[in-house]
Amino acid sequence: MITIHNLHKRFNQHEVLKGIDMTIEKGKVIVIIGPSGSGKTTFLRCLNALEIPSAGNIQIGKVSIDFSKSVSKKEIAALRRESGMVFQQYNLFPHKTALENVTEGPIVVKKQAKNEAIQKAEKLLQKVGLLEQKDKYPFQLSGGQQQRVGIARALAMEPELMLFDEPTSALDPELVGEVLNVMKELANEGMTMVVVTHEMRFAKEAADEVIFMDQGIVIEKGTPDEIFTAPKEQRTKQFLQLLH
Ligand code: ADP
Repeated sequence: MITIHNLHKRFNQHEVLKGIDMTIEKGKVIVIIGPSGSGKTTFLRCLNALEIPSAGNIQIGKVSIDFSKSVSKKEIAALRRESGMVFQQYNLFPHKTALENVTEGPIVVKKQAKNEAIQKAEKLLQKVGLLEQKDKYPFQLSGGQQQRVGIARALAMEPELMLFDEPTSALDPELVGEVLNVMKELANEGMTMVVVTHEMRFAKEAADEVIFMDQGIVIEKGTPDEIFTAPKEQRTKQFLQLLH
């Protein structure tokens, strides 16, 4: 179980997250939707300790941190290891092959033996349908393929939770499906996932819970059916209408 309690994040005077509460059961897929600027990315980055929350609690796996107190680098590193992040812009190492991108974390951070890391990476590349491309460099791969390497790279760290920050929004439309399919497969295998996306079809098909965020707070949450067919809040209704 993952719990987030009263999470706040401010950048100088600008309070971007204004007290987020969330409980995520193991194996569930949470999709976060909401207007641009509502704090979705900042929220994901806080879960992965890429941003340090101003206040609140995050508990993922064995790690539990109260950000109202001073937090050590060791605690931050421990929290970061609990989740794997997939970015909008893939963020692969350009001078490393697909395989090397996937083995880098396990070898450098986890101190895995090189052979073991390679074996595991090959399995993961197979899972995302890219074993045959393992020796290619990012520039030799399509956007969809790069993003699938990004997913394999995050999985290689064996995280408790996978975070996806608009993973398909930089892709040409014909490449979106291959990435969403890999994500659906992961969901079916029981991976716990938090996904920020504009792909409402994915939300409808794969989410256990949809969360609508606006201006740094959770406005409404529910099953895809509840949110998409019978939203309760005016702001949710307005947002969904704009999508049509
Ligand atoms: P969303 O993902 O919903 O589009 P973001 O989390 O990216 O929203 O951004 C929420 C708000 O936080 C925006 O107003 C953005 O300008 C601000 N913000 C995000 N990151 C930073 C930062 N590093 N420094 C200052 N402001 C930031």
